[in-house]
Amino acid sequence: MGMREFGNTIRTARIKAEMSQKMLADRVGLSRESISNYERGEVQVLSPAMLEMFASTLGLDPRNLARIAGYLSPSDTAATNSSGMKTALITGITGQDGSYLAEFLISKGYKVYGMVRGQHNPKQELVQAMIPALEFVDGDLLDQSSLVAALEITQPDEIYNLGAISFVPLSWKQPVLTGEVTGLGVVRMLEAVRMTNPGTRFYQASSSEMFGKVREVPQTELTPFAPRSPYGFAKAYGHYATVNYRESYGLFACSGILFNHESPRRGLEFVTRKITNGVARIVAGKQHELVLGDLQPQRDWGYAGDYVRAMWAMLQQDDADDYVVASGATHTIEEFATHAFAAVGLDWREYVRSDPKFYRPAEVNLLIGKAEKAERALGWEPTVDFPHLVRMMVEADVAKEGVTTQG
Ligand code: GDP
Repeated sequence: MGMREFGNTIRTARIKAEMSQKMLADRVGLSRESISNYERGEVQVLSPAMLEMFASTLGLDPRNLARIAGYLSPSDTAATNSSGMKTALITGITGQDGSYLAEFLISKGYKVYGMVRGQHNPKQELVQAMIPALEFVDGDLLDQSSLVAALEITQPDEIYNLGAISFVPLSWKQPVLTGEVTGLGVVRMLEAVRMTNPGTRFYQASSSEMFGKVREVPQTELTPFAPRSPYGFAKAYGHYATVNYRESYGLFACSGILFNHESPRRGLEFVTRKITNGVARIVAGKQHELVLGDLQPQRDWGYAGDYVRAMWAMLQQDDADDYVVASGATHTIEEFATHAFAAVGLDWREYVRSDPKFYRPAEVNLLIGKAEKAERALGWEPTVDFPHLVRMMVEADVAKEGVTTQG
């Protein structure tokens, strides 16, 4: 473990000092390839003189480096500024799961980079304010070379590919873009892993939408896919790509088939948050009805904060594999609305109207997952059930409106 941690420390310090591999190589009189080998933990012998040189060039305490490289025992003088922490790169950092995962990984001692695209991304400032320890790197799932650069700069141990066009109705309006980002983006990232460091562990955010017109109830890792939207078939492509790169190249690539997962941070366009935000605004007197689409589809809803733990656990196993992550319970949209309005003492039937303009060209009518494998192999279990999830979301939205309720 010494050399690997040591490599991570050199890499982290180099990035902090804004020093490329070439610059460091020039300073300490080595080839760039040697630095690369050190950073990958592939060099087993390191002279004390070399250690000193790395430390002074990078502005680190030599005793820290020595300890990490295994020359000093943990009981020797306390370390000061190096940590040997793992590094993670998250795509989709400005989405719901990105923020929960970043917080979780930071709490575990990771250095976390969020990948962002575009010249100015207003959501980046919001995430930065919420998670000050988070760092950012530029990259776009549409642009192969930007992904290679992002991996070279950050040198992650783990990549979590959460970036996607994820709102199902939008995927019918922009099916090609959805395919490019949500589907081909996965292959671009897997190719970038092959090009930079095939030892990097990779998590792909797959989706229960791949089950679509379900072939069996409940759905497991073995249930055939029958997607019902451009989002669904793009995710299926990304899933198969992940499995294939694992089988073809031996990459540590995992696909997490996550059922719907919600939270107070869920985007307002998704039905759960649309309902809880609507409830809060009705209580605040800002709106008087809530117009939804089809109220009969059933979803297996869990809490996003629970689901990001499963993502991480997948990458800590000895072998890469695919896992369903679900609550195992299913409810209609109507039931969600019933609970949400009841939480503030209101009857949903007095406020909710169903309008066909929100109906989808093809609907996924029933999702219910069986997470037995994740529970057994990862020791994962959810901590928030359906009634608590609804209440948590309603309370958060009501608090945002600054009103008190009788619920
Ligand atoms: P999805 O399962 O990833 O598509 O998540 P959504 O939260 O967008 O939709 C969940 C279900 O709610 C789908 O079956 C929608 O058809 C249904 N639904 C009903 N009314 C609405 C609505 O007003 N907005 C959204 N987003 N979904 C709705």
